[in-house]
Amino acid sequence: MPEKLEQLYEGKAKKVYRTTDPDLFMVDYKDDATAFNGAKKGTIQNKGVLNNRISAVFFKLLEEKGIPTHFVELVSDREMLVKSLKIILIEVIVRNIAAGSLAKRLGLPEGTPMSRPVLEFYYKDDKLGDPMINEYHIRALDLATPEQIDTIKDIALKVNDILLEYLSDKKIDLVDFKLEFGLHKGQVVLGDEISPDTCRFWDRDTREKLDKDRFRRDLGSVEEAYEEVFRRLTGKSSDQK
Ligand code: UDP
Repeated sequence: MPEKLEQLYEGKAKKVYRTTDPDLFMVDYKDDATAFNGAKKGTIQNKGVLNNRISAVFFKLLEEKGIPTHFVELVSDREMLVKSLKIILIEVIVRNIAAGSLAKRLGLPEGTPMSRPVLEFYYKDDKLGDPMINEYHIRALDLATPEQIDTIKDIALKVNDILLEYLSDKKIDLVDFKLEFGLHKGQVVLGDEISPDTCRFWDRDTREKLDKDRFRRDLGSVEEAYEEVFRRLTGKSSDQK
């Protein structure tokens, strides 16, 4: 097991460390929560532990289905070992049901099913508030090559198919989610996290929100919602080993 060295980066929800293996980074998941581009700040008890474990479940599933991800292994409650990535400055959002900014922008009632998945790109830049961009902007800003854009779109839509099928068994509707990608030894690899921070999960029967919207909209029972997602994925509670 490579040793954790100095911190390279601290984001809103995670810290990234260099390790003694130059091909591997260590990610440390925090309990800090932010929304509205950092305007709302708070803590969700145990979120780091839950998101670390939930992301690991999804990354393992995706790897099994042939999707290249940065996940290597879980190291502790809050830490996972990942492949070192040079992050691509694009956030990719896939949507199956209208919610959040899409519902607002297109005037669709939240909960309207999309007749086919919608894929969006955003420029990963906190100072600009992550503006929406298209493939022309990506090319003009040299954020990715046409081949990399094609790979990213292909992976994002495959991830959607895999997660939709998997979550269907757990009685969870996958409303939308955000993915980030990076380059590892020249290959496009899925990075970041897949968790209730970055996905909208609704209970199929009650339509109860099981994700960060509980924090964004002050709905209460935020930790309980994340715990419920973990329980549905694994059949366990997060204090069980
Ligand atoms: N999302 C994210 N990080 C962002 C923006 C969005 O993880 O910086 C996720 C969000 O949790 C949701 C999906 O991407 O699952 C679509 O988000 P939307 O564009 O509706 O933005 P929001 O209304 O959540 O700000």
